[in-house]
Amino acid sequence: MIRRPVLAGVAAAAAALAALGIWQGWMPGSGLVRRTLPVPRNVLLITLDTLRADRLGCYGYTKGLTPNLDALARDGARFANTYTTVPLTTPSHSAILTGRYPLATGLRNNGSSTLPDEELLLSEILHQRGFRTGAIVSALVLAADYGLNQGFDLYYEEGIKATPSGSGLWFEQRPADQSVDRAITWLKANADRPFFLWLHLFDPHAPYEAPPPYREQYKDAPYNGEVAFTDAQVGRLLDEFKAMGLYDNSLIVALSDHGESLGEHGEPYHGNFLYQGTMHIPLLVRVPGGRRGVVVSDLTSSIDVAPTVLDALGIERPASIQGVSLLDAAARGGRVPARSVYLESIYPTATYGWATARAIVLLPWKLIDLPRPELYEATQDPAEKTNLYGERPAQVEDLRAEFQELVGGIEAGARAPEQVQLDDETLDRLQSLGYVGGQQSKASTTRGADPKDMAFMLTPMRIASDMLGRREFADAEEIFRKALEVDPDNRLVLLGIGRALIGQGKLDDAIPLYEHGVKVYPDVEEFYRAYGKALMSDLRLDAAEEVFQRALEHLPQSAQMHFQLGYTRFLAGRWSDAAEELDLAGRLGKKFGKPHYLLAICRLRTGDEAGALASLQEYLKRDPDVDSLFVDPYFYEFRRRPAFQELIKKHL
Ligand SMILES: [Zn+2]
Repeated sequence: MIRRPVLAGVAAAAAALAALGIWQGWMPGSGLVRRTLPVPRNVLLITLDTLRADRLGCYGYTKGLTPNLDALARDGARFANTYTTVPLTTPSHSAILTGRYPLATGLRNNGSSTLPDEELLLSEILHQRGFRTGAIVSALVLAADYGLNQGFDLYYEEGIKATPSGSGLWFEQRPADQSVDRAITWLKANADRPFFLWLHLFDPHAPYEAPPPYREQYKDAPYNGEVAFTDAQVGRLLDEFKAMGLYDNSLIVALSDHGESLGEHGEPYHGNFLYQGTMHIPLLVRVPGGRRGVVVSDLTSSIDVAPTVLDALGIERPASIQGVSLLDAAARGGRVPARSVYLESIYPTATYGWATARAIVLLPWKLIDLPRPELYEATQDPAEKTNLYGERPAQVEDLRAEFQELVGGIEAGARAPEQVQLDDETLDRLQSLGYVGGQQSKASTTRGADPKDMAFMLTPMRIASDMLGRREFADAEEIFRKALEVDPDNRLVLLGIGRALIGQGKLDDAIPLYEHGVKVYPDVEEFYRAYGKALMSDLRLDAAEEVFQRALEHLPQSAQMHFQLGYTRFLAGRWSDAAEELDLAGRLGKKFGKPHYLLAICRLRTGDEAGALASLQEYLKRDPDVDSLFVDPYFYEFRRRPAFQELIKKHL
C-alpha cells in the first residue's frame, strides 16, 4: 500500500473529531448522516449511454446541449471525477446495478456472458423490500439474455430485438422519446407505491441520427444533436416527476455507462481504450433534503451508485459490494474515502487478439497497463497528451504496487464468466457486425499487440464489417486481406475473411483460414462454430462433426459446442447420438432453450413421447416462443395429443 498524505490527514482529523465525539456525525455512509435526512420514498436511476462528461454544461461545455441535466446538477450534487469500470454497455451497467467490478462478476464484455443469478442487483434488494421495480432499456446489448433483468417487475425490451431488416444488432435501439413515454406510462400505473425506476437511453451511441429538429440544428456535430435530444427527453421525465409530486421525495441518480472517443487517440467509438473520453463519466445525484449545487471532486466510480442508494434508504449493504456510499458527499459535500479504482477492457483481446487494456486511477494519476505503458496526470491533462511513464519511475512503482493489490483483491473472489446462450441466427448477425465472442478459457492477456499501435486498423475493420452486413463480400474480403498482411492473427479479420469467402461460395478457400484460426486460438469457440457451420451448409456433416469434436477437446464445458455437435448429428438423422449431445448442451447452458427443442424431436423420432413432452416443457421454460411448435412439421402428429395441447395452453 502506498503512502497517502490525504488519507493521513483525514485520519488525523478523524482522531481529533472522534475525541470530540462528532466523528460519527459526518463519517461517509454513517447511519447518523442518513438519519438527519428524510428517507427517499422512490429511486430513479437514469443511465445515458455513450454520453461524454465534457458535453454537459455542468461539466464545462459551453454550447448549451444539456439544460435539463445541468438543472439536476444545480438541484443536487455533481461528481467531477467519476470513472466507469469498463467502456462497454453490458458490463458497465452490470457494475452500476451490482456495485461490483466486471472482473468480479465475470460479465466483462458485450454479448458473451450473462450476469449469474447468484449476483445480487439493486433491483433485487429493493424488490425484496417491497419496491415496485421497472426497467426501460433501449438497446439490444441490455436484453434480458444478459441477466440484468433480475429483480425487475417490468423489464421493457420491446423494439430492441434485432430484426433481419434492422440496421444492425448492436445498434438496434428504441429512441429516447419512446422510452420516456413508456417510463411515464409505468410511473402512472406504479407510483402509488414506493418504486425503483431504471431508465436507459441509448441515443448518443452511434449511428448519430437525432430526430428533427436536432438533426438539422446539429448537422455539423451529429453526436451533439443526439446529446441535446437525449437531454430534452430526460427533462420530459423529470417534468413528469415534478407534476406527479415525485421529484422532491425521490433519490435521483443520472450517469453515463461510458463516453465516446470521437476520434481521440485514433478511436472512432469506444471499447478499445481507457482514455478519459470514454472512462470519465458524468454522475449527478439528487438526495431529498440534501444541499443544492454540491460539487464533489474526490475520485468516485460507477460501482458507488448501488451502495449510495442502499445507504440513502437505510438498507444494509451486502458484503459483496465493492463500491462505497457517496451519500454524505452527495447530500452535504462531505469527503469520499481516498482509494484507487480499476478500469479494464477485454474487448481488444476478445475481438482482435490484442492485449487487454487495464488501468488504475489514483488521483491525480492514471496508469494504463499495456505492452507500452502510460502514465498521465488525469486531472491536469484530460486529453492525455503527455505520457509521463518514463519520467516518473517512483510514481510508477507506487502505482504498480497499488495495482497489484487492487486487482489481486478483485481476482481473489472473481466468478468465472457465465456464458450467454444465443441462437445461431443471433450469433451469425453478431459475427457479421464484428463480434468475436463465445466461450474461451483465458479472457484477458498482457501479451499481444498494444491496441494503441493498432488503432489505424479500427476504421478499415469497421468498414469491412459493415460491408459484410450488406453482403458486399468481395469488397469486404479485399479490405480484410490487407488488414491480414499487417496483423496475421487478428481474430476479427480471420473470421471476416472466412465469412466473405463463404458469402462468395468459396468454402474451400475459407477452410485453410479457419484451420489457422483454430490453431492460433484453440480455446475460442467462434472459430469452430464458423468453421463447422460452413461445412454443415455444404452438407459435409462428417467433417463438421470432426470440427466440433476437436472444439470439445479444448472446451469440454461449452454448451454451444455440444449443441452444434448434436445439431450436426440431428441433421444426419442420427437421433440417439444427437440426443446425447443435446442433453449435455441443455444441462451446461442453463438458460439455453434450443437444445431442448431439438431433443424433443429426437425423442419423438425414437418413439419416446413422454420424453419429448418433458423436453418441450424445458424448452418452453426458457423460450416462451410457442409459435414454432404450431408450424414445425416435426410436431405434426404430436400436435393432436391432449398432453401436448395441455402444455401449449399453459404458455399461450
Ligand atoms: Zn454503452
